[in-house]
Amino acid sequence: MLFFSEAGTSYKEVPGEHSLVIHISGCPNACENCFSPWLQNGEGDVLKDIFQKLLYLYHAVTCVCFLGEGDEGNRVEFADMCTHLRTLGIKFWKKKWRAKLIRTKVI
Ligand code: SF4
Repeated sequence: MLFFSEAGTSYKEVPGEHSLVIHISGCPNACENCFSPWLQNGEGDVLKDIFQKLLYLYHAVTCVCFLGEGDEGNRVEFADMCTHLRTLGIKFWKKKWRAKLIRTKVI
């Protein structure tokens, strides 16, 4: 299950896009000099419970940007959200997971 710590909009995160930025928590990487150490624990709200509400609240966005690594065990849940975004014509960005998802043909 994916958890997130915060969400909001940004024009800077993805160039040329008005993005809904969602900070996924539960990062397992423990990088030295982590830029967001609060994302290393699994705290926060359940993302799938509020994902639709976020899209409704921020309906003017053109892109959803998932920040933080999260738990790779939740790739299918993430893929379901990306598939839903595609049906709505909203772009999405999650560099590391997206590369893995394309390789495994989940999306
Ligand atoms: S949130 Fe980013 S910087 Fe921090 S540990 Fe995870 S991958 Fe590293």
